[in-house]
Amino acid sequence: MSAQTKTVNQIEVKGRTVFVRNDFNVPLTDQGAITDDTRIRASLPTLRHLSENGAKIVCASHLGRPKGIPTPKDSLRTVAKRLAELLGKPVQFCPEIIGPEAEKMKKAIKAGEILLLENLRIDSRETKNDPEFARELAKGIDVYINDAFGACHRAHASIDALAEIISLKGMGLLLEKEIRYLSMATQNPPKKYVVILGGVKVSDKIPVIENLVGKASCLLIGGAMAYTFLASQGKFVGRSKVEPDFIEFCKKLLTTAPAKGTRILLPIDHIAAAKIEPDITVRLVGQDETIPDTMMGLDIGFDTVKLFAMEIESAELIVWNGPMGVFEIDTFAGGTMGVAQAVADSKATSIVGGGDSVSAIHKSGLADKITHISTGGGASLEYLSGLILPGIAALG
Ligand code: ADP
Ligand code: MG
Repeated sequence: MSAQTKTVNQIEVKGRTVFVRNDFNVPLTDQGAITDDTRIRASLPTLRHLSENGAKIVCASHLGRPKGIPTPKDSLRTVAKRLAELLGKPVQFCPEIIGPEAEKMKKAIKAGEILLLENLRIDSRETKNDPEFARELAKGIDVYINDAFGACHRAHASIDALAEIISLKGMGLLLEKEIRYLSMATQNPPKKYVVILGGVKVSDKIPVIENLVGKASCLLIGGAMAYTFLASQGKFVGRSKVEPDFIEFCKKLLTTAPAKGTRILLPIDHIAAAKIEPDITVRLVGQDETIPDTMMGLDIGFDTVKLFAMEIESAELIVWNGPMGVFEIDTFAGGTMGVAQAVADSKATSIVGGGDSVSAIHKSGLADKITHISTGGGASLEYLSGLILPGIAALG
């Protein structure tokens, strides 16, 4: 993105046909019912803006990873229905992505009306960033708007090649908001900047750690990844998930981070059990104890929550990725819920990103106390890693 990158409200759209790349990649049941419509709701501000300003709107998105002959579950038809309900106005659905029917329907839309094309990934050329496919998508389009933050880390045809073809282009309101908040985490953050990291693997989060160490004043580490750090200090962690190949990385980070201005805090107590199961016997492993060799650490303990909460309380900016424990099971959810409460109570600007972290925040019931919940899982991690996302770069 450059200083010249436009937002949708800086572009004249009246009477123009506007292609909006949305992220309607919503979770579905086996029967194809939508289980969480957060991403559809997040698309509404841009679509309302365009409709109120007289644009002819052509929406497109991917959904899942269709393979071979498409099934009804691969279709965006259900999304079109939900979108219409949420907007309170009709949404036309085109069973084609490109082709004669799509051409006809694109031409027929009137100012303010919305058309949703079929799942982009049904055509294998989408993920190949195929220029010919992009040229087909571009037919009859005057303006390109990217509002699909969750797909911006992929150089696919509707994200990259299409944006290269259309000169009048910009960000949707959701994409603009995502960048506005996530850039706080990576560019000139305030002095009291607390980063909370958790989740399964250290190896998944190395690029994020490397980019944020030196920027954050404090890094709080929980989740399974904490055990590789604890093991690197020679601590006994029982059967907790440790990544032996990353022990050296952790050891080095613990010694180099303070010199770069980042304090790192690790869990001081744990909830441990022999298995990841709901009704299993658990043990609180206190500060002076070690995790029994038959057990693994599955959540941070109460003292760790208190320790982390103290840092969170005085923060100006908080970025959180990765749950503190196996929050999907209530027995091991206390640490994640305790940290969520602390973040919700703090006056800081708070940003939560990552697929499971977002589910955890919703489970806590505190989502409305968070300043920004990112709609992009992989994309938010790549952004926090300091990478330039292809979808943002393509907007010029
Ligand atoms: P995100 O999707 O937010 O980036 P991750 O995918 O990295 O987060 O990690 C989420 C997963 O980490 C959750 O499914 C959770 O059960 C698991 N997890 C957290 N703590 C532990 C732990 N101590 N042991 C095993 N798994 C854990
Ligand atoms: Mg995940």
